[in-house]
Amino acid sequence: MQLVIRELSKTYPNGVQALRDVSLTVPPGMFGLLGPNGAGKSTLMRTIATLQQPDRGSIMLGDIDVLRQPDAVRRVLGYLPQEFGLYPNLSAEMVLDHFATLKGIVASRERKELVAALLHQTNLYDVRKKNVGGFSGGMKQRLGIAIALIGSPRLLIVDEPTAGLDPTERNRFLNLLADIGEDVVVILSTHIVEDVRELCSRMAIIDGGRVVLEGDPRQVLDEIRGRIWERAVPKSQLDEYRARYRVISTRLVAGVPVIRVHGELPPGDGFVPVEPGLEDVYFHRVGAAAVESELVPAS
Ligand code: ADP
Repeated sequence: MQLVIRELSKTYPNGVQALRDVSLTVPPGMFGLLGPNGAGKSTLMRTIATLQQPDRGSIMLGDIDVLRQPDAVRRVLGYLPQEFGLYPNLSAEMVLDHFATLKGIVASRERKELVAALLHQTNLYDVRKKNVGGFSGGMKQRLGIAIALIGSPRLLIVDEPTAGLDPTERNRFLNLLADIGEDVVVILSTHIVEDVRELCSRMAIIDGGRVVLEGDPRQVLDEIRGRIWERAVPKSQLDEYRARYRVISTRLVAGVPVIRVHGELPPGDGFVPVEPGLEDVYFHRVGAAAVESELVPAS
């Protein structure tokens, strides 16, 4: 079962064009939807999850017409929204039991087994009796996934799940997603490039409501290889370089700006070729990154 989105457009009543002719083909496995804040990711996720209607376009999940058969989609959908509330005074086990009942799993023995399996899968079994009000961000997100997995969805949508998680929790969360199953369509929306790099077999970048790139992350990297160049520049000349070259990112290494540029040919002028990263692809497509990281070389 794959998800096929064709020419989806949405303009909000305030005039913001959140989606512009978005077409994507999402096969089973993990699909990374990458884009800056305001790109339209949540709008797209909510539309696929049948929570809002587009102005134009179509979405097919296998042979289900998503926009016309929302009930059929909801039976096979797991959705972890960007923000969700949990009853703080209930334990993780009670929360899962509650949602399993809502999903129609009425036989108590079956529900008990399912809840235990989900708690194990999301590494929450040891804290199952604790109130979720005391959970860390990462634990809450894992519980959110456990809820989304009730009923064995064929389509799992997770919207910005790693925002605000520390690196350990982020890894744990992403590994959990990666283990979910090869025949499930998993869409991971994120503004964090690293989330996509290792885990996703397919990816797209969306910016200003448009798909600006779609492909296999490795292939995408191959296409840009040999075209990324780097050099350190004096701070005083930074603006000059920015005016002269297509600077895709700037970072500080021990206080000195190091710029990366995209170019088909060697720019000369002290630039050296570098191995591209997915960040380069991203910043090349969505516009230059500001000086945002202060890197100090290990002594
Ligand atoms: P992302 O998830 O990539 O941050 P969103 O889909 O949330 O992007 O938003 C895309 C654009 O649509 C943004 O400019 C946002 O301000 C706007 N937007 C989102 N939801 C609404 C809404 N309900 N009404 C009006 N504008 C909205």
